Amino acid sequence: MKLLSFAQGDRTGVALQRGDGSFMDLAAIGFSTMLDIVAAGPERLHDISQWDADTQEAPLTGNICILAPIPHPVRDVFCVGKNYLRHAKEFGSSGFDSGNTGGDEVPDAPIIFTKATTSVAAPESPICTAFDPDDSVDYEGELAVIIGTGGRNIAKQDAMSHVFGYTVLNDVTAREAQKRHKQWVLGKGIDGFCPMGPVILVANSNLDVTGLRLVTEVNGEIRQDGQISDLIFDIPTLIATISAYITLVPGDIIATGTPEGVGIGFDPPRYLRPGDIVTVSIEPIGSLSNPVT
Ligand code: MG
Repeated sequence: MKLLSFAQGDRTGVALQRGDGSFMDLAAIGFSTMLDIVAAGPERLHDISQWDADTQEAPLTGNICILAPIPHPVRDVFCVGKNYLRHAKEFGSSGFDSGNTGGDEVPDAPIIFTKATTSVAAPESPICTAFDPDDSVDYEGELAVIIGTGGRNIAKQDAMSHVFGYTVLNDVTAREAQKRHKQWVLGKGIDGFCPMGPVILVANSNLDVTGLRLVTEVNGEIRQDGQISDLIFDIPTLIATISAYITLVPGDIIATGTPEGVGIGFDPPRYLRPGDIVTVSIEPIGSLSNPVT
């Protein structure tokens, strides 16, 4: 099941995207935000599926604007640094590693940081390079996990039952600020630097995201081509690690890290420039495309 948040006119809502691409407005069964659905729990998800199978309602008509699946997260987005081996090496050798990992290219524990809620942006929303005074804006295509059932001290073997679904995320980064300030919060938290979407693919027992491929293109040129199976720290490990310290709540977002091929992996670095279009694709979730201004 694919769910998305949308705007139409002066109204926002949440919809189910059918296999034929049409959108069913879930206001018909009382849902107006994604967080309402996440908080409602698995039984209500079943109700949505059943309603979609039975309803005589027509799909949404007219243009809609697709928003980030959770446009206003409950708190900052959790992220993981250096979670693919070859990316860890390209980052380590780029000269941009600020040294907060002890200088090792490959971390021996997950590196967890966050992006501000105000960095969250919609598909097609512009990435504004003028917000980075150093002109060092870079892309990081990532798979993001949406937490359904919250919890503290979640065991690895129970972790996947806490996953609501998955989306595509671009951990856009101002590299010079990331390096200069040591902590990554500023360089990665800039307004609009966390595009997400277009949908949440709801987790189910037949879906194994470790088999998925992540591709990032800039102006149609493939820059990143990774396999989710190459994560150094897998999704259960990330959930167990974070929840060992911080209670996870419904709607929390965890960006799982980026594979090799980011702009600073090139010599000289290939930063995003106004006029570029950056697209991160993880099928069957979809493609997240954003213009650079
Ligand atoms: Mg990242």
